Amino acid sequence: MKFPIYLDSHSTTPIDPRVLETMLPYFTEKFGNAASRNHAFGWEAEEAVEVARKQIARLIHADPKELVFTSGATESDNLALRGVVEMYREKGDHMITNSTEHRAVLDTAKALESKRGVKVTYLHVDKSGLVSPDDVRHAITDKTILISIMLANNEIGSINPIREIGKIAKEKGILFHCDATQGVGKIPVDVQEMGIDLMSFTAHKMYGPKGVGALYVRKKAPRVRIAPMIDGGGHERGMRSGTLPVPLVVGFGKACELCEQEMTAEARRLAAMRDRLEAGIMNGLDEVYLNGHPTQRLPHNLNVSFAYVEGESLLMGLKEIALSSGSACTSATLEPSYVLRALGVGSDLAHSSIRFGLGRFTTDDEVEYTVKRIIETVTRLREMSPLYEMAKEGVDLKSVQWAAH
Ligand SMILES: *Cc1c(COP(=O)(O)O)cnc(C)c1O
Repeated sequence: MKFPIYLDSHSTTPIDPRVLETMLPYFTEKFGNAASRNHAFGWEAEEAVEVARKQIARLIHADPKELVFTSGATESDNLALRGVVEMYREKGDHMITNSTEHRAVLDTAKALESKRGVKVTYLHVDKSGLVSPDDVRHAITDKTILISIMLANNEIGSINPIREIGKIAKEKGILFHCDATQGVGKIPVDVQEMGIDLMSFTAHKMYGPKGVGALYVRKKAPRVRIAPMIDGGGHERGMRSGTLPVPLVVGFGKACELCEQEMTAEARRLAAMRDRLEAGIMNGLDEVYLNGHPTQRLPHNLNVSFAYVEGESLLMGLKEIALSSGSACTSATLEPSYVLRALGVGSDLAHSSIRFGLGRFTTDDEVEYTVKRIIETVTRLREMSPLYEMAKEGVDLKSVQWAAH
């Protein structure tokens, strides 16, 4: 086994060697600018970009002309929200999103509220982390111009009922944006069937390179128009100016092609591995709680809270395994995860949470080793915890009168 073991696939994934191999010539001899129309270098680059566009479009059942390349999902989310608000401002000033969205959507919505006077409804999720289509329906007003709901959550892996939400949006004639960054390449995504009008995703979460993403922008029924955030040479049909990073785009395309070919088998394999990880942990320890939906979740995701153990302390004791805790990832201040808090997870259990993200290159041995080390480390930390000891002795911790200090 090679250390450290990588189990943080929701943050990023390693590049697939087959993707890298496809990209390399575009860093060297095939260096043309895809916008150079006058010579062979440009034609070669443009052709490579068009091949990638087809590979990406195929994975999400879109037309290649409906893709706008960006620097990643953060930019795609910004472009979708800001672009729609600016373009459709006369139609209304209200948008609907949800409280467990990625910061790229939430922070953009907040900026639109404070700087542009947009009214934003933040829907609550149920205790498994899902948005209710009925809540979406009830939040719609005659001023609503955009609904933005993520496909799968990046912390707990819960998969939202996107089809139902898309249907409501269509019925009411409101644009529907979906941040599908965690889902594309992992579970089937079909923008037609799901009724999605705009969709963000990124290469580096699906074994492609960092620094390139896409925004799907529907071309017909309805034809969606967005105001650009960057003005320049009018690239990407005017929606995102700037010279395309051809090697990255080529890698993004190859990554999508591989996902399309391997997704079904990979999802099955990772779900089985994740289930072994979960069962191993649950069988070896008491007071472990699953966060998120038991079944409607990404196949490679597991998020659990280990009562009486600080997630941060657990990670300190497990330096040879790359994991993410529900405290650290969102801020430098060790606030517990706002996603877990939105599900109603108490502050203690939110601080005790760990996210496991399996990936294409995770092995059975790594999972087995992780189970063993988690059990050892949680047991050791609990042995040092007076609270755990009291709970085991039958003291009801809620009834304890703590001395004021
Ligand atoms: C990672 C992620 C993003 C940001 O993607 P970048 O390409 O790193 O900008 C946005 N939304 C979700 C749900 C993510 O998981």
